[in-house]
Amino acid sequence: MKREKALVVFSGGQDSATCLYWALKRFREVHTITFAYGQKHSLEVAAAKKIAGMAGVDFHLVDIGQIASIGKNSLTDRGMVMDQEKPEHSVPNTFVPGRNLFFLSIAAVYAREKGIFDLVTGVSQTDFSGYPDCRDSFIRSLNVSLNLAMDEQFVIHTPLMWLDKAQTWALADSLGVFGIVRNETLTCYNGIPGDGCGHCPACRLRNAGLHKYLEDRDMALESLGNFNI
Ligand code: ZN
Repeated sequence: MKREKALVVFSGGQDSATCLYWALKRFREVHTITFAYGQKHSLEVAAAKKIAGMAGVDFHLVDIGQIASIGKNSLTDRGMVMDQEKPEHSVPNTFVPGRNLFFLSIAAVYAREKGIFDLVTGVSQTDFSGYPDCRDSFIRSLNVSLNLAMDEQFVIHTPLMWLDKAQTWALADSLGVFGIVRNETLTCYNGIPGDGCGHCPACRLRNAGLHKYLEDRDMALESLGNFNI
């Protein structure tokens, strides 16, 4: 039986687009919330809006551009050269401090107004680029905090948490949206949609997963059965 309503935190990238279609299978009514946080590529927002339109779901854009001015990172600072690898003792400079904390907190307030208590986010600990706010422990802790903060019973769903990128492609395929996710999403840090520039860290991760998935499609689809998603 489908649950009632869910709000998907939606960036227009591969992961959150897969989550959007995952949510559409499970919830009767799905909404999306997208954040403009001063990212260099506003094309991301355009991709999110287009995909939400294709999926026939509500699209809501929130501008939190101020976070770019208080936390330095190479996704919003045009003067900063992007780390191509994770530095040994720190997070890469593509890390936007507080991003998922802010996104999910604002999403919860917006959801509550709409009578939605199921939130969906595409974070993953598996292909974890060193971002602490993609870890399961952080999401669980924030879930508790949001419930305490608003005296509600939110559930934060993280369907990709334990999937690697190849399995995320398998999930999109099993949902019947492999082509949409491959062609319409924008994951590339250089703002090129679909298969992207091919050399930025986001493209390398995405394309390595795609390559691995296409090499052994059947096995990857089968491995999804091990996850209750
Ligand atoms: Zn790229």
